[in-house]
Amino acid sequence: MTRSRARPAGQSVTGRKRSASYRQRTSSTHKDPLKAGATAKRTGRKPQKELKFHDFLQQKLRNVAQKWPPIYMFKNDRKIWATVQRISATELHVIADTGEEFIVENSKATSGRRVMYRCEYCGLLWFERSWVQCKNGKWRKTSDIALDHIEPVVDPYTGHVSWDKHIDRLFHGAMQLLCKPCHNLKSDLENQIRRAQ
Ligand SMILES: [Zn+2]
Repeated sequence: MTRSRARPAGQSVTGRKRSASYRQRTSSTHKDPLKAGATAKRTGRKPQKELKFHDFLQQKLRNVAQKWPPIYMFKNDRKIWATVQRISATELHVIADTGEEFIVENSKATSGRRVMYRCEYCGLLWFERSWVQCKNGKWRKTSDIALDHIEPVVDPYTGHVSWDKHIDRLFHGAMQLLCKPCHNLKSDLENQIRRAQ
């Protein structure tokens, strides 16, 4: 008569004793996501952010869309070259190839030929990026031009309907270039509508 017997702790099915390195390997590579919080508490590390599949996919699709040639070329075709001359520690004199001439506040850019884009809402010319000084004195590069979908990819009134609609609007929707302040105004308005639904 055979009798089943519980295996002693630390012993594998084959009867061999597991080495210490094996135990270390398995404990570090087979993490249970549900226990991530408990591990973080024990080790003092920051807990892993909750994985949000929808947000993850939305962000990745947006990154891919930037590389889709028709979208990429849309921005490329709207480049306006300008000759930039530093006139003081904080000011630049700009002469665009369109004939426009103006002075902008900018403490970092050097003199030379620079690319600019026109905001389709306020009509002003903007550098793609600029440097701003934070309160702690460090310099930070900001993106001043946004490629905007005239009709929002996610309709603020209905929210996400389907990935088919999302992808269609993202890749085939009409676009415009907006400066960051104008784009922020538009996004704030859309977010207000979303919150009111
Ligand atoms: Zn603008």
